[in-house]
Amino acid sequence: MNELFQEASYVIEQIEKEGYKAYYVGGCVRDYCLKKPIKDIDIASNAKPEDIQRIFPKTIPVGIEHGTVIVRHNHVSYEVTTFRKEDQYKDYRRPSQVWFVDELEEDLSRRDFTFNAMAMDKSYKLIDPFHGRMDLKKQEIRTVGDPDHRFSEDPLRLMRACRFMSVYNMDIEERTRAAIGNHAPLLKKISTERITAEFRKLLEGEQAGKALEFMQSSHVAHYLPHPIKEQKNGNMLTFDWCSLKHEEQRWAAVIILSKVNDRRDFLKKWKIPNPLSKAVLDVVEATYTDSWSKMKLYETSLKTALLGLQIRCLLNGAPYHEKAERLKQTASEIPISSRSDIPLRGEDILSIKKEVPGEWVGQLFQEMEKEIVEGELPLSESELIEWVRRWERL
Ligand code: ATP
Ligand code: MG
Repeated sequence: MNELFQEASYVIEQIEKEGYKAYYVGGCVRDYCLKKPIKDIDIASNAKPEDIQRIFPKTIPVGIEHGTVIVRHNHVSYEVTTFRKEDQYKDYRRPSQVWFVDELEEDLSRRDFTFNAMAMDKSYKLIDPFHGRMDLKKQEIRTVGDPDHRFSEDPLRLMRACRFMSVYNMDIEERTRAAIGNHAPLLKKISTERITAEFRKLLEGEQAGKALEFMQSSHVAHYLPHPIKEQKNGNMLTFDWCSLKHEEQRWAAVIILSKVNDRRDFLKKWKIPNPLSKAVLDVVEATYTDSWSKMKLYETSLKTALLGLQIRCLLNGAPYHEKAERLKQTASEIPISSRSDIPLRGEDILSIKKEVPGEWVGQLFQEMEKEIVEGELPLSESELIEWVRRWERL
């Protein structure tokens, strides 16, 4: 972990050499204090974007008007942002104006939670004016400054609080908690993409159940892109989310536990990308399947069937392994894994049947595939040719 900071300290040193201040800030300092893996290192400085561009040979101007320049050093990117202050978020998207400031503390005070408002210098000395470190120890989420003000300024912070609750198993300090309930309707002002991005991180967390339960009790769940309805039995909390290692399973569990009727519409409202959405729908379907014919298993894929079976077993309190072994056994008895494993092509069929092409070719393939999968037709070329000869349209 320190190796990442060691590499990054070069960037800080170069900025300091030019007479400016520079610190590590945000998520990397929080994760360093928590001894969690560091994802990326952000740096804050009183140097202006044009100074940063002058100091480093390789920079990318990603958000100059907000003070952010990416510095490339040894193939790693560092976001270097000028200390700044913001005014009211009028459109709830981005601050309507930012001012560059000279003091680190002023920059830290615009940040959302105390543990995200810490900075660290290159020799690991913590600058922690809002006692974020203590809140990390207490496992408490607390806004920097008045929570009502901070959430009305930027309601995305409601989602971020729920995300940190899930990922770091934290609780929410009382006033911060009350303010989240009060400002939940403001979530409607935030773009779906930003809410979904936070929610996807929340679902990855070990305490997703605790966070989902809190979202329901604080009514945040009501203002999501598609509401997550509360069920009376508190099932979100008691469900064993940690066993689910795949994102599509976690979305599937949300859909099942909150008894969503129109699953497709639910995923569309959340703007879930198509491949993920399809995977989620398949897992939900697999969860509701109680007996697997070879054909059903072939169409679904063993992987998806197992993901669904796992949720099903968690919901029913049934043991998973024995059932999974049985499914694997059934899958191993299926001779093909897709139509391309059949050693005959369309042109072979036409030359055997000596008929003009038409829809019948598709029909024939479908029936042949089904018989092969169910073990009624051996996968040998001569047997297949014989079967095609005998085949007649209905
Ligand atoms: P992650 O681990 O996902 O990167 P993060 O806290 O670093 O989490 P970022 O979106 O990378 O999240 O933001 C970096 C820092 O910027 C945060 O730690 C916080 O100090 C500040 N920040 C981010 N979003 C907000 C916000 N909506 N309001 C106030 N400060 C914010
Ligand atoms: Mg970050």
